[in-house]
Amino acid sequence: MIIGIIGLGLIGGSLAIDLRSLGHKILGVSRKQTTCEQAIARGIVDDASTDLKILSSAEVIFICTPIEAIAPTIQQLIPYISTDTILTDVGSVKKPIVDVVAGLWDNFIGGHPMAGTADSGLDAALSNLFVDRCWCITPTNNTQEIYLNILTNIITSVQAKIIFCQPQEHDQAVALISHLPVMISSSLIATCLAENDLNVLNLAKIIASSGFKDTSRVGGGNPELGLMMAKYNRQALLTSLYQYQEQLNAIVNIIETENWSKLNERLTMTNQGRTEFTICQQ
Ligand code: NAP
Repeated sequence: MIIGIIGLGLIGGSLAIDLRSLGHKILGVSRKQTTCEQAIARGIVDDASTDLKILSSAEVIFICTPIEAIAPTIQQLIPYISTDTILTDVGSVKKPIVDVVAGLWDNFIGGHPMAGTADSGLDAALSNLFVDRCWCITPTNNTQEIYLNILTNIITSVQAKIIFCQPQEHDQAVALISHLPVMISSSLIATCLAENDLNVLNLAKIIASSGFKDTSRVGGGNPELGLMMAKYNRQALLTSLYQYQEQLNAIVNIIETENWSKLNERLTMTNQGRTEFTICQQ
C-alpha cells in the first residue's frame, strides 16, 4: 500500500521503519526540510517533503505530529487527498481530536499506540517499537467496516494489540495510567529538589537507587508531552489528581495516627491489586 506519515519523530519515524520493512511505500511529511532529507537518506521513507501535496496518492495517512497540530494538519491536507483516503492519528488524547476531526473527514479513525520512550525526534525512531503494545482505536458509528479493517490490518502487521474504545473512556483511562503518573512523578522530583537541608539533598542525590529511577522516570521526561497531556486532557487529569489527593490524605492520616494494621492492609491491597494491570504481569 501507499502509506503517508506526517510528523517524522519518535512515533512517526518508528512506524515508517516498520511499515517500509513490510514492503509498503512510505511517503513522509515533516516540518523541517532537514528531517525529510535525513528520513530519505536513512531509508526510513521512500520520499518525503515539507509539502502535504506529496501525500496525494496515499491510501492511508497516519498523523504523528504533536497533538495541537493534528486537527489543523488535517484541515490543510483535505484539498490534496481523495475521499476514500483513510486518515488516522496517534495523539495521546482522543476526545478533543475526534470531536473536531470527525466533522472534517468521514474516513477519520482516531488511534493511540501505547508505546514510547523518553526520547523524541527522528533520531529517537526505532524498529519494533509497537510489538506487543496496545494500540487504542476509537471508531465512531459512521466508521465504515471496510476502512476499519484496512487500518486494523496495518496496525496488527506491526504486531500491536488492538483495543477498541470510546474517546472519552480512553481519555479517562490514560489520565489514570499515563497522565496522572507523569504529574505524580514530577511532584516527587520537585519534592526532593525542594529539600532545604543541603547535606540531606546532596546525600539523596548520591544514594538514589533503582526505586527513585523507576518512580522519577516519567516525571523527568519530555516537558512538551506532559504539557500537552494537561492542556488537552485537563478535566480527566484533574479528576484523577483529586482522587489521588484523597488517597494521599488517607495515607497521611494513617501514618499520623500510627495505624499500622490499616497501613499493612492497604499495602497488601496494592501489592495484590497491581497484578490486575496487564503490564505488571509481564
Ligand atoms: P516527536 O518525537 O517530537 O515527533 C513529532 C515530530 O513531528 C517532530 O519531530 C517534528 O519533526 C514533526 N512536526 C512537528 N510539528 C509538525 C507539523 N506541524 N507538521 C509536520 N510535522 C511536524 O513526538 P512523538 O513522541 O513522536 O509524538 C507524536 C505524537 O504521538 C503526539 O501526538 C503524541 O501525543 C503521540 N504519542 C506519543 C507517545 C510518546 O511516548 N512519545 C506515545 C504515544 C503517542 P521536525 O520538526 O523534525 O520536522
